[in-house]
Amino acid sequence: MRGWHIGKVFGINLEINYTWLIIFGLIFMSVSSELSDATREVPQHQLWLAALVTTVLFFVSLLLHELAHSVMAIRLGMKVSRITLFVFGGVAQISHEPRSPGVEFKVAIMGPLMSLFLAVMFGLLDKAARAAGAAPIWTFSCHWLAVINALLAGFNLLPAYPLDGGRVLRSILWASWKSLERATRVAATIGEWFGYTMVAFGFLQIFTGAVGGGIWMLALGWLLAMMAKASNQRVQIEHTLGDIYVHDLMSSPVATIPADIDLDHAAHAYFLSARFTAFGVEDHGSIIGLVRMDDLQAVPRERWLMTTVREVTRPLDPEKMTITADREAVEAMMKMAENNAGRLLVTDYAGSIIGIISQSDIMRLVRVKGGLGI
Ligand SMILES: [Zn+2]
Repeated sequence: MRGWHIGKVFGINLEINYTWLIIFGLIFMSVSSELSDATREVPQHQLWLAALVTTVLFFVSLLLHELAHSVMAIRLGMKVSRITLFVFGGVAQISHEPRSPGVEFKVAIMGPLMSLFLAVMFGLLDKAARAAGAAPIWTFSCHWLAVINALLAGFNLLPAYPLDGGRVLRSILWASWKSLERATRVAATIGEWFGYTMVAFGFLQIFTGAVGGGIWMLALGWLLAMMAKASNQRVQIEHTLGDIYVHDLMSSPVATIPADIDLDHAAHAYFLSARFTAFGVEDHGSIIGLVRMDDLQAVPRERWLMTTVREVTRPLDPEKMTITADREAVEAMMKMAENNAGRLLVTDYAGSIIGIISQSDIMRLVRVKGGLGI
């Protein structure tokens, strides 16, 4: 999930996804109505100012929660490329799965600890403001921020993977069972059921009249269940692909198409006759990129005779489109998912292209191994 870039802290890009505007608006409205209930005869402009400051501080709290995870992750040698705020809060893009239970525990616990710390800070600020005789609207705003941060800490500590508490649980199970796969299965299954329970409660709320809160609960529960399910599947795939390498699954050599033939010729003489969905594009003996079936589809049929393969070729970007043959198949899967690519070109040590590996090659193996139960 990407968004607008708003700044950079500790080398981490901070981004806001457009869905976040919805939640910003909702929180702003709910804070202003709570503020006007809690305080008497405050001018409208002051009410809006207080609601705006409170809403902004709420998002700063969310950012600090994610930053706490990220800073610990960086200290422990992981890479964090960005933090994105979106409709359900924040998410830090931490580059890979933790290497040990200890690392996972430390990274997971930091977020809720930060939220607890913020809850205490806003609580103290509330007390201090009261003692100093500040206007009720500002003490109420501190009180609200203290409560919301305490709720954030509490919710995130629920032992439902991939919530922070679920990660803490997984790290403990992982340490005692010495099996990441088994620990993830249990923590993610709890996460999934917890998500479905929230969905059920959401429906119940909707039918008893609390439509807004019900829809919120339902959506959050569904997201949690889906994320838990995806983690479960990913770990199973990683387990299945345990000691399989790219060179075990690649097709070699790469089927190629000359760069300067027209699309009509390419469709009939290459795509149809070989029945592959992608080819390397060859120019003077070297591969300059990839051409896929949908690259042809994007060109209107009547222009096929006038368009060369070179014009629709996706130029070779070694960072995103290649992987070396001695890497694990799991890594190839992850690289494809990150770059939204269905296949990667495989290179040897010297960087020359020796084959191609596709997502369907990998998934076929996962299905067969799964079907045989080995
Ligand atoms: Zn967190």
